[in-house]
Amino acid sequence: MNVADTERATTRLRAHDYIVSDSPAAADIVLFNTCSVRERAAHKVLTRIGEVRKQRRDQTPLIGVMGCVAQLEGELLFEQSPHINFVVGTRATDRLPAIIEKVLEGQGKVLDLGERAEGESLQIATHARHSAYVGFVPIIEGCNKFCSYCIVPFSRGREKSRLASEIIADVSRLRDQGFREVHLIGQNVNSYRPALNDGFELFKGATPFSRLLRAVAATGIERIKFTTSFPRDFHEDIVSALDEHENLCNWVHLPVQSGSDKVLRAMRRGYKVSDYLRCVENTRRAHRRISLTSDIIIGFPSESSSDFKETLKLVQTCRFDGLYIFKYSERPRTPSAKLLDDVGKEEKASRFLELERLQREVQRGIYLDYVGETLKVLVEGVSTKSLKDMTGHTTCHKVVNFAGNSQMLGSVIDVQVTESKINSLYGKDLVR
Ligand code: SF4
Repeated sequence: MNVADTERATTRLRAHDYIVSDSPAAADIVLFNTCSVRERAAHKVLTRIGEVRKQRRDQTPLIGVMGCVAQLEGELLFEQSPHINFVVGTRATDRLPAIIEKVLEGQGKVLDLGERAEGESLQIATHARHSAYVGFVPIIEGCNKFCSYCIVPFSRGREKSRLASEIIADVSRLRDQGFREVHLIGQNVNSYRPALNDGFELFKGATPFSRLLRAVAATGIERIKFTTSFPRDFHEDIVSALDEHENLCNWVHLPVQSGSDKVLRAMRRGYKVSDYLRCVENTRRAHRRISLTSDIIIGFPSESSSDFKETLKLVQTCRFDGLYIFKYSERPRTPSAKLLDDVGKEEKASRFLELERLQREVQRGIYLDYVGETLKVLVEGVSTKSLKDMTGHTTCHKVVNFAGNSQMLGSVIDVQVTESKINSLYGKDLVR
C-alpha cells in the first residue's frame, strides 16, 4: 500500500509541475512516506529527518510527512520536530500539491488528516509506477477487523471498496499500456464490498470479491495476483474463480498469525485453526498447485510453549511456500498494548529461530520439487546478485534468476529450473 501511495503522490505532484527527485541532498522539498506496521515507526522518521537536516545545514528543504505515522501522530509531529512543515494523512495524498502551496504561501505549518474528497480518482500515471510491467491496483482501503495488536484500522480508517467499474478500467488501461501483470491490493482484498454493483453486473460469484476476480480476468490481462486475503472471508468460490481463469495466478497470501485457538482469540482474529485449515484444503483441491504464503506473530502476550508448539504443528501441516515471521511488539493505542507482554525477549528469539528453522526445512523441500520443471517467468529486472543474471517472478510468485540480458525485460519467458535455493530458484531460459 505504501508503494501505491508513493505512486499516487508522484502522480499528483508531477501533474502540478513538480520534478520528483530521489536525492534528499538536492531536493527543495523532502517528503517522508511512512508505515507504522513496524516497531518505533515515528521514532525512525524523526531520526531520518534529523539526518537530512544535518546533511542540508546550508539550505534546509521543506519537510513533509505522509502515510500512517502522519495519520496517527498528526499535530504531535510538529511538536516532536520543529523542522516538519506539513503533515499529510493517509486519505489526503491527492491534496499534496495544495498543501505544499499553502506552506509556500507562508500559511505556516499545514496539517491535513481529512477523508478523501468525493470523486477523487485513484488513477496513477504510467511514469509514476514502480515497475513498467507490474501494476498495483488498489481495490479496497482500510480495515474493519480490529485485530487486537494492529494499528491499521486507526491509521487507514474503515474499509472502503472502489467500484468494480473503476478497477476494471484501471486494469484495462494497464493492459493497453503493455503491463503484463496486475496486483489487486488492499489490507484485506477478499473483504471487498463496493456500495454499488457497477462494473460487474454480468459476472457471477458467491462474494463480491470472487465476482470481481472473474470480471478482472475477463479483461484478458496476462496475469492477475491479489494480496492480502483474510482467512475469515476466504470463500471457496475464490478458488473456483482461480480454477476457471488461467490468468488468475496460482498464489494466495493468507496470514494465519498463530496455530493456537487461544492466541487467535486473544488476537481477535475471528476464526479458529480448523477454519484456517479448511481454507488451506480448499486451495489444495484446486486444479493447479496454488502456492500458499502466510504471516505468523510469535510471542503474543500469554502465548505458552504449548501454544507455540501448536503453531509449529500448523506450519508442518500447511507447508507454506513462504512465511513472514514477526516477533510480537506492542503498538501504542491498540487493545493488546494493555496486555502484559509476558513472553521474554530471549524466549521470543528462540521461538523465532525454531519456527524459522522449520519453515526453511519445509521450503527447501517445496523449492527442490521445482528442479527440472519449466516455469513461465515475467522478466522484471537485473538480478541484484549478478549483472549477468535477470530476475523475475513465476505465476506462483517465486523469484527465478537466470542468465539473460536486458532485451528480455518485460517479456514472459520459459525457464527450466536447474537449481533451488532457500528463497529463490535458478534456471536457464529455453529460447537461447
Ligand atoms: S485484518 Fe487485522 S492485521 Fe490485517 S490490517 Fe486488519 S486489523 Fe490489521
